[in-house]
Amino acid sequence: MCYAIPAKVIEIKKNIAVLDYFGERRNVVLDLPDIQIGDYVFAQGGILVRKVDEKEALAVLDTWKDLFFELKEIDQQLARPLQSEKLSGNALAVLQKVNLKQALTKEDLLVLSALTDQKELSVLYEVANQVRQREHSNASCVHGIIEFSNYCRGDCFYCGIRRERAIERYRMTEAEILAVTKQAIDEYGFKAIVLQSGEDLYYDEDQLERLVKALRQLGILIFLSIGVRPVATYKKLYAAGARAALMRFETSNPAIFQQLRPNTTLDERLALIRELKKIGYVLATGFLIGLPNEQPEDLVNNILLTKELEPEMYSFGPLIPTQDTPLVHAPTTSVDQVLKTIAIARLASPDANILVTTALETLSPEGKRQALLAGANSMMINLTPMQYRPLYSIYDNRACNQQEVASNIQATVQLLRDLGRAPMDVGL
Ligand code: SF4
Repeated sequence: MCYAIPAKVIEIKKNIAVLDYFGERRNVVLDLPDIQIGDYVFAQGGILVRKVDEKEALAVLDTWKDLFFELKEIDQQLARPLQSEKLSGNALAVLQKVNLKQALTKEDLLVLSALTDQKELSVLYEVANQVRQREHSNASCVHGIIEFSNYCRGDCFYCGIRRERAIERYRMTEAEILAVTKQAIDEYGFKAIVLQSGEDLYYDEDQLERLVKALRQLGILIFLSIGVRPVATYKKLYAAGARAALMRFETSNPAIFQQLRPNTTLDERLALIRELKKIGYVLATGFLIGLPNEQPEDLVNNILLTKELEPEMYSFGPLIPTQDTPLVHAPTTSVDQVLKTIAIARLASPDANILVTTALETLSPEGKRQALLAGANSMMINLTPMQYRPLYSIYDNRACNQQEVASNIQATVQLLRDLGRAPMDVGL
């Protein structure tokens, strides 16, 4: 998006380029030919995605040179020191380990997951924000997401576009997807696009390959969120230019997984997630927060499994019960459950990139801001054309259904500025 800073390549070590953002360094994968030291580039998700003309880069950098340092200062002020006196004994001991940069054990995470007092939770969020600031400075990334089909062969109990739910279905054509992406790049300056759909086999391997190749020509990071496909298909799409994949495992509890995702198993899903990583995709994974029958230990197991999968991005969504699905009467996950999950994940994996999902905004208009102040550092903006948006009804009353792209971008840019976050790549 327009909220993006170009960087200068200052060193190249085999396939890694070292980038400079006003004196801050980031390592990224060198995924383009003919890049030299001294070139200006855009990077996303730890991958160099596009070379920028020097004149253009210097003009953008000129607009950022003072603001960059102002934002840094705002961020530092907001990452306040620990108010430890508000904590009880065990939690205080855990957070002191965090300050000493010691790794947390499962027992430590269980102590944090048991916090319910609002004052104690506030301290947890503040510490998580400090750790985010310590590890990533004020870097943040914003990706665009296009939901290109709501057809799905899956029948997951919590999902509003499950096969058995009678809803109006849509598919965007390749031409529509390309047009939306071009607009996102040309008008709004996006550098990374997530292509998301149900598991819709109408788009076969060849069609997806053609689409990825066409999008890659536009100089962006292509993120796939298309569900279970053969490993060979994911390999082909990587070869075509896709570089990131989002696949959540949803729960680390095999019995709950089996119950809520008929005809699939947790082992199969984890095997595919591991394959994606092996292929070389920048991996985003995580789980649903607040599934029925999960115990407090499941939350900690979910966080630990996410960490074990070594993703470049963590993604946690709240359960929002949806009409005409088997989980319609399940309790809605609270904002604090989500914030607590983000904060604990940040403390368990200090250098993680943690995404604020759009579902959190549905729970609360302040959700995005709160999550960014509880350890999150990454966001997505919905670019799906307005006529399709309400049809991608994975849960009821999605906040993004009504918000036009331009006003969403404006609000996001303002939020990032208020919080002192700068759009440099978070690096590897
Ligand atoms: S969660 Fe994914 S696979 Fe399951 S029904 Fe929804 S879109 Fe389909």
